Amino acid sequence: MGRLVVVSNRVGPLQDTGRAGGLAVALVDVLRERGGVWFGWSGKISEEGTFSPLREQSSGNVRVATIDLSETDYNEYYAGYANRCLWPTMHYRLDLTDFDRKFDEGYRRVNERFAARLKPLLEPDDIIWVHDYHFMLLGAQLRAMGVENPIGFFLHIPFPVPEVLTALPNHAGLVRSLLAYDLIGFQSTRDASALRRYLVEEAGADETSDGAMHVLGRKVHLDAFPIGIDAETFAGYAVSGEGQRNFRRLKTLLNGQIQMIGVDRIDYSKGLPERFRAVERLFEDYPENRGRVSFMQVAPPSRSEVRAYSDIQRTLEGLTGRINGKFSDIDWTPISFLTQSLPRRALAGIYRASLIGLVTPLRDGMNLVAKEYVAAQDPEDPGVLVLSRFAGAAEELREALIVNPYSIDAIAEALQTGIRMPQDERKERWERLYGRITKTTAASWSRTFIERLTDAAEHGR
Ligand code: UDP
Repeated sequence: MGRLVVVSNRVGPLQDTGRAGGLAVALVDVLRERGGVWFGWSGKISEEGTFSPLREQSSGNVRVATIDLSETDYNEYYAGYANRCLWPTMHYRLDLTDFDRKFDEGYRRVNERFAARLKPLLEPDDIIWVHDYHFMLLGAQLRAMGVENPIGFFLHIPFPVPEVLTALPNHAGLVRSLLAYDLIGFQSTRDASALRRYLVEEAGADETSDGAMHVLGRKVHLDAFPIGIDAETFAGYAVSGEGQRNFRRLKTLLNGQIQMIGVDRIDYSKGLPERFRAVERLFEDYPENRGRVSFMQVAPPSRSEVRAYSDIQRTLEGLTGRINGKFSDIDWTPISFLTQSLPRRALAGIYRASLIGLVTPLRDGMNLVAKEYVAAQDPEDPGVLVLSRFAGAAEELREALIVNPYSIDAIAEALQTGIRMPQDERKERWERLYGRITKTTAASWSRTFIERLTDAAEHGR
């Protein structure tokens, strides 16, 4: 069995995965199983940039190797192309894109440099797995340097339909580079179909009998591999230590009132202003909820160097003030808005104390919060998940109350339905949802992808 080489923009941590996101958990297990290398950006900016010495750290058979970025790299590749071109395009927000040839060049340059720095670390039997939108060109760069190992790519964010993707100035080059991978993985079948359509309509591809695509002299395999969470572990967080403490604190404070919860990085893809307006609409249209129901939004800021991100925080602060001003009573405040990040163990307890989980992104690759909310519920008295149809998670979590996140009325109605839902129905829906999220784990997701990648590389390029 060959080693696994993982490439992603940010790496680790190898220890204390309780604090880490789902991806780290999923990858650490498989890296330990096979031994290998995790390669990426150090998170540091230095003058030498991608020419900096490797920063290395080993733990058993796993080696973490990172390099720096220069300030120009950071501005052009990361803040520029990744976050101002790809992120908005992939999330269907062409209005927020900022196309600039410099960003393209920076992205290409950094991908090339990462490929060049990775190459000496490779062994002939390695399997290479590249993650996410930061490194779409990396596979093609490695091939150009003569690397013949199996190389797979997984996109954690949505892949847009051709009508949207073709607005990206260099879309043809970007997609052609993707064809260098043996297997391209997506969060949902919707994303995989979008690339299939692109390949047929824009590049004259033919579908082969095994579901692969013949295109521009290449055979490329693509499929959906919805990422999983360790549901049982997360359920455990909710009833032990930090989770339990937060559950009790909130329950005491609520004193029999109903809590609705949202947890998202501040990002325009998360549909936050629409969600706040829907909460306002709930109190307008169903006034019996005033004084009885409150909404808490946990929203750690992210990428605040990008204007669109700081704008949205201000919008949310304004909405919170206005809605609270309008409806608050001396002993009740409708919205709490927390712009700090909370540890996942604490969140588990908060989810369990909340009758409604609000996950209403306008677009999302998967959305792990949706799965974590389900995992944390009390099986005897579970809450209700209100879920956007445009989250990847909606393909699996069909017993949630599925909503159109653009429709304030539809969200408000779903909230009211959830608040009034009888316990029997809540249990019935939750049992099915929990059954779905326990079918895969973070590690089984990685294993499935790697198996398919090995297969794809063996059976035809
Ligand atoms: N998260 C966290 N603390 C917070 C907010 C979020 O630990 O204050 C975690 C959350 O539990 C989830 C992840 O961050 O595991 C967010 O993943 P998701 O797929 O929902 O959204 P993304 O931020 O990747 O777009």
